[in-house]
Amino acid sequence: MSAIDTLPPLREVIATHQLSARKSLGQNFLLDLNLTAKIARQAGDLTECDVLEIGPGPGGLTRGLLSEGARRVLAVEKDTRCIPALNEIAQTYPGRLEIINGDALEIDPLAHLTPPVRIAANLPYNVGTELLVRWLTPKDWPPFWQSLTLMFQREVAERIVAQPGSKAYGRLALLAQWRADAHIVLSLPPGAFTPPPKVSSAVVHLTALPEPRFPAPAGVLSRVVAAAFNQRRKMLRAALKGQAPDIEDRLLAAGIKPTERAEQVPLEAFCALAREMDKS
Ligand code: SAM
Repeated sequence: MSAIDTLPPLREVIATHQLSARKSLGQNFLLDLNLTAKIARQAGDLTECDVLEIGPGPGGLTRGLLSEGARRVLAVEKDTRCIPALNEIAQTYPGRLEIINGDALEIDPLAHLTPPVRIAANLPYNVGTELLVRWLTPKDWPPFWQSLTLMFQREVAERIVAQPGSKAYGRLALLAQWRADAHIVLSLPPGAFTPPPKVSSAVVHLTALPEPRFPAPAGVLSRVVAAAFNQRRKMLRAALKGQAPDIEDRLLAAGIKPTERAEQVPLEAFCALAREMDKS
């Protein structure tokens, strides 16, 4: 019997349902239920929350979320082979686990969720980054979620929490930190997964701020940051030349030296620049 529920150990679940890991679906499973419960605890107090879990696979993290007291879990899994294993978990936690067999990039889970909502996932990295960007750029802020607890490749996690002056600092850091608090809360070696991936992983916890950290028009900020980091080795007056004929004046008005490089510029100054760019 496992430590957190009366269901069989995950190795047995995988054998029973023949869930050999598929590379095409980025399947690196977590089989240690103590570890999945630990990740679930990083998501905060779940007792009053619906949790959206993307990519539950055989259900290790799902079991962690439920045993840690999530009010409800909505699990979206693309691999049909995993659904019977997930149904067994649903029977152990009556009324608390809803399963959707589908692609998280295509379905809209909102109709299935009651606020407050937290999101937790151990996803293939490319899908994870794409979903993170979507969750950070909704039309209206605050978003439908309170927090995101997501497993990433260590290098991607470092890009999310990076500070100015570091190599990892760029669009992802600015996007994440503009509207959320972001921290790495757990590091995992490849051996924590079955099969082990090539690189280390880390869990990032992001908490949505009630409003953006500094005022800025979202579209302009995104455009300026993209242009600045597309040519990150150039001085900003050169990298942003195409953005406005009087770019030097606008940089100075935002308190940024035109000879500076994007990597050195803090979020607050990028927001000031976006406001300057928004003026006619
Ligand atoms: N959460 C499980 C765990 O921690 O052991 C599985 C993690 S595995 C890294 C990623 C899971 O995401 C797999 O079960 C895979 O089938 C699923 N997946 C991959 N792409 C997906 C997508 N676009 N939508 C939903 N699930 C997806």
